[in-house]
Amino acid sequence: MAAPKKILIIEDEPHIVMGLRDALEFEGFGVISAGKGKEGVALARAETPDAVILDLMLPDVNGYAVCEELRRQSPFVPIIMLTARSQETDKIRGLDAGADDYVTKPFSVNELIARMRAIFRRASRPSGAPELVEIGAAKVSFTAHTLTADGTEHALSFYEVELLRLLVERAGQPVSRDEILQKIWGLEAGPTNRTVDNFIVKLRKKIEKHPDKPAHILTVYGFGYKLALETAAS
Ligand code: CA
Repeated sequence: MAAPKKILIIEDEPHIVMGLRDALEFEGFGVISAGKGKEGVALARAETPDAVILDLMLPDVNGYAVCEELRRQSPFVPIIMLTARSQETDKIRGLDAGADDYVTKPFSVNELIARMRAIFRRASRPSGAPELVEIGAAKVSFTAHTLTADGTEHALSFYEVELLRLLVERAGQPVSRDEILQKIWGLEAGPTNRTVDNFIVKLRKKIEKHPDKPAHILTVYGFGYKLALETAAS
């Protein structure tokens, strides 16, 4: 039997840690936890978790700094940030610091569990996408988790890889936002829909010559997105 996937929780509120730990262990995940940011970073270095749940408000270091440090250590580990704030700027700052996604407190434990399940379900299933793909002038390696364009190599995060892989598997066909959210994030369609759009923006910045006039990751209005591998003649 494969070793259980290990999830690191960095959070100082014991009742939240306890609730998450119980639910995750019940689902068969291994759980390690730290109540402070520095301790969390050290634990991540020592234990190389498969995913991280990181609270923004910690007693010693702020969550953004912890996130940046985790990202430096491990460019690909999925990081979900817990935030008590609902301001859009905090979320954007979290995503800029390298978080893959955020959940606003009070959150539903079931929603977080669904995300964790989706992460490992996608990551463990065989993919219909080839290992190396050219999208216009950009080259993507799904094994090295990199995208090279204009002579610059960008590291791709977990969700960027998964989203791109889904679009490549279905290249030329529209893929709905709801399907993306459900398959990659394990979420039902709803108010968190902008999650997908945020990742599309990040990918366009790396792939497109003119991110505001995309030639490859195309918007299908009122539906979702469609990937064009070749540059369309205009
Ligand atoms: Ca906290």
